[in-house]
Amino acid sequence: MREQLELLWELQKIDLDLKNINEDRDRYPREMKKLDEKQNIEKERIQKEKGQLETLEKDRRQKERDLTGEQEKIKRSEGRMSEVKTNKEYQALLNEIETFKQVTSRVEEEILLVMDEIDELKKDLSKREKEIVIIEEKFEAEKKKIEEKMAQDDLVWKEKQKRKEILSKQIESKLFNLYNTLKEKRLGIGVVCVSHETCQGCFVNVPPQMFIEVQKNNSIVRCPNCNRILYWEGNGGKK
Ligand SMILES: [Zn+2]
Repeated sequence: MREQLELLWELQKIDLDLKNINEDRDRYPREMKKLDEKQNIEKERIQKEKGQLETLEKDRRQKERDLTGEQEKIKRSEGRMSEVKTNKEYQALLNEIETFKQVTSRVEEEILLVMDEIDELKKDLSKREKEIVIIEEKFEAEKKKIEEKMAQDDLVWKEKQKRKEILSKQIESKLFNLYNTLKEKRLGIGVVCVSHETCQGCFVNVPPQMFIEVQKNNSIVRCPNCNRILYWEGNGGKK
């Protein structure tokens, strides 16, 4: 029975490892997706700012064309000065030129404002672009790590499965079935060790006489509280 219990104990550890790998397999794709999403948010933000920059540049070019137009109007009006015959005409022309000049200086101011905005945005954009390089490197490294872990998990999985098959054949079917039933009912743990006279599955004390029996490891002793098969792994043993 001692050997049987040892095999069962090994099987329990393998089953827990397999359970952990399964949890990893659930978790890793979600982690990958989260990283991709974060990366996309950064990229989209940069795209949006690039779009804003384009709009501002277009606006600036339009205003510069407006400015040239106004300046030409001033030149044309000034050119007509020599043709003026009356004082009234002269005054009207001066007024016209004054109006064009006002428009010109307003457009000039607007251009300066747009250029300020463009400068700010460019600064922000270049900062973001530098940041995203670092972020992407970091994320790629994280993704690579996850991929490596997944590959490692696959290898371990295969190995453990192989050993599990062997153990399943070596363990007496009655014990094996009992273990499987308990495992299903008790959160994946059918056999559990006793430490400090306490069942490590439910953390309830094991009666002294039973504790002595468990330490012998040569009969099937079950926890009076959680029903799991108890195993003695020596002092300080866990699960
Ligand atoms: Zn228990």
